Amino acid sequence: CGIVGLVGEIVVSDLIEGLEKLEYRGYDSAGVAFLRDSSLCVEKNKGRVASLKEKLSELLNERITLGIAHTRWATHGEPNDINAHPHTDCQSKLCVVHNGIIENFKELKKRLEEVGHRFVSDTDTEVIPHLIEEYYTTDLVEAVRKAVKLLEGSFAIAVIHVDHPDIIVGTRKGSPLILTVGNGVAGIASDVTPLLKYSKDMVFLEDGDIFCVSKGGFEVFDVVGRKKERKPTHIDWTY
Ligand code: GLU
Repeated sequence: CGIVGLVGEIVVSDLIEGLEKLEYRGYDSAGVAFLRDSSLCVEKNKGRVASLKEKLSELLNERITLGIAHTRWATHGEPNDINAHPHTDCQSKLCVVHNGIIENFKELKKRLEEVGHRFVSDTDTEVIPHLIEEYYTTDLVEAVRKAVKLLEGSFAIAVIHVDHPDIIVGTRKGSPLILTVGNGVAGIASDVTPLLKYSKDMVFLEDGDIFCVSKGGFEVFDVVGRKKERKPTHIDWTY
């Protein structure tokens, strides 16, 4: 139901703070993933952002280079700790948060299982990390682009990968996603509220956009890999 992703000079609690700003949207589960000592650290649970924060209490002030976070409103798979996002691939090298519904997930899951992917959740979302894993060689944007071509439904997606500690890649179709590049921190979110403390210049991503954001800037491509021009809109209010 809500996505936050931050890249740059951040601490773990910045992700939690972002989720707290999205709490008004309603949710049944919450989770975060970030890179720590070159491996993925994933924490998620059914229930409140406050209990997630509690679990992470030792790590809240830890400096990290990037992370993604999610509040879930379950559509496929009951609300429980395993079905909470983020979801990972088989090797735990990449992590995905997703808002929306993947309509053709059953068919994709079957095909992925046939080529050896093992699933742990009952969500529609879990096909996304496995598809990206299937396509990944060295270029995360390319892998996301190829995976997105196969997805039907509505989605806002953010992806991080252990081999790329300085970028967040993702896409949207039918679900909102906003991007900003601030002073030392860039972010993406389902609405502007988690991002306003970093910058007031917001890029409202459009359907079919595939983005790659780092603390220094961003690029947007279409589904066949052509570069797209996206201009920020200045938001003149605080929250
Ligand atoms: N369909 C996904 C799920 O049930 C995402 C739901 C959401 O948008 O929070 O896990």
